This record gives sequence, C-alpha cells and structure tokens, in this order.
Amino acid sequence: MTANNNAGFNTRAVHAGQAFEPRTGAVVPPLHFSTTYAQDGIGNLRSGYEYGRGGNPTRDALQEQLAALEGGSAAFSFGSGLAAEDSLIRALARPGDHIVLGNDAYGGTYRLINRVLGDWGIGNTPVDMSDLDAVAAAVRANKTRIVWVETPSNPMMKITDIEALAAVAHDAGALLVVDNTFASPYLQTPLALGADVVVHSTTKYIGGHSDVVGGALVVKDAELAEKIGFIQFAVGAVSGPMDAFLTTRGLKTLGVRMDRHSENGQAVAEWLLQRPEVEAVLYPGLPDHPGHDLAAKQMKKFGGMVSVQFKGGEAAARSVAENTTVFTLAESLGGIESLMNYPSEMTHASVKGTELAVPVNLLRLSCGIEEAADLIADLEQAFAKIG
Ligand SMILES: *Cc1c(COP(=O)(O)O)cnc(C)c1O
Repeated sequence: MTANNNAGFNTRAVHAGQAFEPRTGAVVPPLHFSTTYAQDGIGNLRSGYEYGRGGNPTRDALQEQLAALEGGSAAFSFGSGLAAEDSLIRALARPGDHIVLGNDAYGGTYRLINRVLGDWGIGNTPVDMSDLDAVAAAVRANKTRIVWVETPSNPMMKITDIEALAAVAHDAGALLVVDNTFASPYLQTPLALGADVVVHSTTKYIGGHSDVVGGALVVKDAELAEKIGFIQFAVGAVSGPMDAFLTTRGLKTLGVRMDRHSENGQAVAEWLLQRPEVEAVLYPGLPDHPGHDLAAKQMKKFGGMVSVQFKGGEAAARSVAENTTVFTLAESLGGIESLMNYPSEMTHASVKGTELAVPVNLLRLSCGIEEAADLIADLEQAFAKIG
C-alpha cells in the first residue's frame, strides 16, 4: 500500500514513499544507483528523472517518507546534517542578514554559522532560547532572517516553547528553524507548532543504527520548498543512493525504537537522580526539570538523551566515561546501542572557551534499546570506580 497522510505515525513510517516496485512486485523498493536516465527523444523524460544530483528514486522515497512523518509538503535529503544546514542558510540568508540561535546550539551548527558563514557576511547572536524576552530583543537588534532552535537542546536538555518562539520570529519577519534531531518526528512535529523549517541530522535517531551519515530539511510552504530545492540541486550536497536507502530502512522503525529509547532514558534518569555522586540530572521526563510541563505538552514522550553532572567535577565525569562497558565512549547519539559522550572535549570541543562552552562535569548519555537493567548495572559499576 501507499500511506495517505492521515494514517497513524507507524503506518506512514513503514509505507510513505515505499510503494512496491510495479514490474516485479518487489515489496522493498529497489536501490537505484544509476546516475543518468535514458531519454525518449531530447528532453523527453520517462518519469522526470534526468541526472542523479537533480533526482534519484531512492532519495525521493526517503524524502517522501520524511515529509509524511514531519507533516511537511516537501523534504530534502543531504549528505550530512551540516550540509543540510549550510544549504538552508544559503537558501534563506544574504550578506547583512542575521541569525539568532540558542546559546547551547550543537557545536557544529555554531561553528558553521560563526566561523564559515560569518566570513560571508552573515551575523549571529547566541541567546538563551528558553527566555523569550531575550530572544525577542536579540531578534529586533539586527536584520534577523532566521531564528534557530534545538529543543531539547544538546547537551543541556533545555526545552523551548516552539509555538511561542514561532510567534516571536514571525512578528519580526523572521523564519523559525527547528533542529528536531533530538526529538525526531515521532516525539515532536515542529511544523504543526508553527515552525517554518525542520532540520535533521538523520545520522542520529532517524537512521538509528550508527551506520549512515545524513541530513534533511522539511518544509510546508511551497515557495520555501522551491528555494531549498534549487540550492539542493545547484550546490549539490545530496545524499547518495546507498545512504538514502539505509536511512529509509532506519526510519521505518523509528516509532518502536523511540518508545524503547524513551523508556530507557526515563529509567536511567530516575536511577541517576537517587545517586549521591550526582549533582544534577538533565532529563525533561523528570517532574522537577524546568521544561517538564512544556515538554509534556509539545512532545509525545521524553526521548533517550540524558545529561548528568557530577559533584566530583571533571575527574568524576571523566572516570565514569572511561569505565563503562555497555555504554560505548563515542561521539554521536540516537543509535540502538548506548553511547557515552564527554561533550566539553568531544562533540562540543569546537565551542570550548566560547559562551557556548559545556560544563566540564557533564556527561551526555544516549540510551540505546538494550535492557534498562543492564544500562543501570553498567553505570553502577562505573560509579564504583570514581576515585
Ligand atoms: C549531529 C548533529 C548535527 C550535525 O549533523 P551531522 O550529520 O553530523 O552533519 C546537527 N544538529 C544536532 C542536534 C546534531 O546532534
């Protein structure tokens, strides 16, 4: 079948863009590697396909699936999350324009905006996105074209009110971009809350198996879709067919994985909260998290990402990071296997010494889909080794 957009999330995840192959009936659409397509007379294309950068059926299948899951009219798949971000900003901003972004934005996003696009005349102001008055002031202080938010944010797990932030951006004539990598469309659909563009590093929960790097943009508005489509084609940072195929395969099971990631995240966060070594647990599923009520309103569940700060400072955080065996010490997140990250030296090393720097006593846990009891036992034995 092909899913209509009123079908439930998991039905759309399995079926959107995934119609069986008409010639053979193959249930899984074939992976198309061809870079070019035969023409029946000059310019007479069989089904719109001409050249692989402009269009590829495997990439289209992923794009259709992504649009259906985020509630967009169009989606665009790129070679990485940062390639998607770069193309988006080229599509929307010109020299002299300004971007207001979260002061705990993903380090690579800040590096792209500040150190690459800054040289092309695009300014930026980092601000605490959970403080809407501060955001409004920052937006008005410049010719702001884009307001850029991650919620939950990485790795501080701050929650921002997407609907309210969209109003702030739109009042000033700016667009709201939401990096939905941490929540994934199963837990949160920003376009339905007024956002203009959703960004993903599909490398994380969407791919879900730590075996493919990719990025995506999803929009509702046709004019925006046309601008982004032009840049995707003209700049060419598209995902390859094999990458698109793997990402589609991952995306089909997103809902069942996110249910499990969320259960494990909650169990690990509640265990951490009881521990004397812990100074703070940053997880929106905990009732005393400052964004708990808002997260409960705009998210379906709270996800698998948990940050924790240690009373024993940097030494305790480093010791735990280096002594787990089920959690693997590695960058990235969102895969079925649990990962442990020390952001200030790993994922967020690029913002060390800036106002976006991450506390040195903080670890970020990506809770996988293993048994929660095994994750907790692993943390327990690592905690016992804190010097
Ligand atoms: C990883 C990540 C990115 C960048 O994506 P890549 O696929 O690594 O280029 C952007 N935003 C967030 C929140 C991320 O976690």
